[in-house]
Amino acid sequence: MPIIVDGFHYAASELSRVYFLTHMHADHYGGLTRSWDCGLIYGTEPTLRLIGSQFLRPLPLNTPTHITVGGAPVVVTMLDANHCPGAACVLFEMVDGSLTLHVGDFRWDRETMLQMNPVLRALQLDCLYLDTTYCDARYTFPPQRQVIDATVAAVSQHLRGSAHASTLILFGAYSLGKERLYLEVARRLGKRVFVDKARHQTLLCLRWPPETMQLLTTDQSSTPLWVVPISHIKFPAMRTHAASRKALQSDFKCVVGIQPTGWTFGGARGGGGGGSAAALLSCRRQGADVIYGAPYSEHSSFTELVDCVRYLRPRRVVPTVNCGTAEKARAQVALLTSAAAQPLLSDAARPSVSAAGGAGSAQPLSGGIVEA
Ligand SMILES: [Zn+2]
Repeated sequence: MPIIVDGFHYAASELSRVYFLTHMHADHYGGLTRSWDCGLIYGTEPTLRLIGSQFLRPLPLNTPTHITVGGAPVVVTMLDANHCPGAACVLFEMVDGSLTLHVGDFRWDRETMLQMNPVLRALQLDCLYLDTTYCDARYTFPPQRQVIDATVAAVSQHLRGSAHASTLILFGAYSLGKERLYLEVARRLGKRVFVDKARHQTLLCLRWPPETMQLLTTDQSSTPLWVVPISHIKFPAMRTHAASRKALQSDFKCVVGIQPTGWTFGGARGGGGGGSAAALLSCRRQGADVIYGAPYSEHSSFTELVDCVRYLRPRRVVPTVNCGTAEKARAQVALLTSAAAQPLLSDAARPSVSAAGGAGSAQPLSGGIVEA
């Protein structure tokens, strides 16, 4: 019986009774309905709190858990995916001892991932289901911490001085995702960040520690930092958005939008000022208003994907994004495995395993099916 990962469009009780939801993004929970009755759904506690269903089975991170799939024992370990809150990679150890890692969506930063998920240090993976959102050598955006530094510098520059009260900073965010960027800017500037009541309710489900929740406010008149849907970060919608709010400051002279996405990298940069850190941001202006494109991605860059494959050395790689045909999937695998085969000096620190490479066959998948 297969285990279905993020593939609720394929769900049928005759096919499987065991499902995994890696995180609460629509392209992963799509197909999951309120009348769900196809079987158990495993996920992390934050993810399952957000979705709510009697069929949900929360699993703790970094804790091997025994489940039964079609009568066969499987050991499952949820790992932090370094993506949106609650997002997990899922490690499956089958009854024959084979290991499969389905990453869901993830941002591979080797140091961060190994620190959060020590089990990754000593794996001999048979199969890696990989988030290939940025499987193209053009996407080599910087680490998140550098983008956070650059954003802090840019926002700080706009808020500095007497014009501060007439400047509004809008952070674009998904319903879930990009939180670390605006929270870190707020924390480092000693300010709170406005979120509307619906977003606040969502974030309450995550049960963050009090020191993090205290950075949030639902009073938009109390702070120049606001979180808005990412689609609002454009001219002139940004200005309309600001004017529509019943804030004390309704006549903002300058509206600054922060548009965080990996897709912005490669555009014009250098307009931010404030030193070399701000030069990471792209900059567009219209009148007094500014939009910064921040290459703040919660998916892995191409360089990071290569590093992931190089480090984990799976026998087989299965792409899960932008691989709608077998040809596209094969091309992604070939690109990654050939790049990963190039030696790096840093690999000296990697414990040796017998299964090098990973140029296995690929199949197009929008979700992932692991045979148990
Ligand atoms: Zn996602």
